[in-house]
Amino acid sequence: MAEWIVLGAGSILPRAGYGTSGHALVRPGRKLVLFDCGPGTLRSLGELGYGIEDIGAVVLSHFHPDHCWDLFALAFARRNPDLRAGHLELVGPEGLSELLERGGAVFGAHNWVRFEAVTVREVEPQAIGRWIELDGLKLAWRPTGHTPHALCWRVDLGNGCSVTYSGDSGESPELAALARGTSVLVCECSFGEEHAQQHHLTPSGAARLALDAGVGKLVLTHFYPSLDPGLALERARAVFPGLIELSADRTRHALAPAGGA
Ligand SMILES: [Zn+2]
Ligand SMILES: [Zn+2]
Repeated sequence: MAEWIVLGAGSILPRAGYGTSGHALVRPGRKLVLFDCGPGTLRSLGELGYGIEDIGAVVLSHFHPDHCWDLFALAFARRNPDLRAGHLELVGPEGLSELLERGGAVFGAHNWVRFEAVTVREVEPQAIGRWIELDGLKLAWRPTGHTPHALCWRVDLGNGCSVTYSGDSGESPELAALARGTSVLVCECSFGEEHAQQHHLTPSGAARLALDAGVGKLVLTHFYPSLDPGLALERARAVFPGLIELSADRTRHALAPAGGA
């Protein structure tokens, strides 16, 4: 069965057991599809026994460092002469190619962090109703308003099962619309209600989105150190009556059709 593994369930602020944002969609017989790739994502994959060559694609929500900086670690790692890394797909908001180009130029004539054997696909933030195919998956997206180009992503696995990943988002109607009827919503809840910020979610905000969208299961993630995950669960449960799972680094979350096992 397909699984969603949260590789990093925290923020850029150091906290034991809660690394920066990184997620892996795992399917039997397929390469991994990563969703975001914050610093520490590759180390976290290593803890699970995965290697660089297991990564088939990386899909980015936005370009804040806690969501994308391991891209350059990945580019460097793929140049290791002992590796047979294979082709890689990179998908993300507009600006991804420029980010790779500028990042690749950081070391001057040395190409240490330049990707080889890669396909880069940028998507427009307002392309409502469009989707792309990625290794047997159907991907759709919407802007979240967290930054001008920030996106949330929905993945349809083709067996009646789907997962929506919020990236970073406030209480966005676009995110609710994208997640409508999805089996699993993996949703950020950065701060408690007492530290609420406009462009991030609280536990009750994430739960309201889950309720509005009629999702099968809510997975809470992206906890800043000030938020106790146990408290987050309590507050989300007061709003959303469905199944809620808390993430921490390397928790595994089953992906099953809404209403299924
Ligand atoms: Zn962000
Ligand atoms: Zn973030």
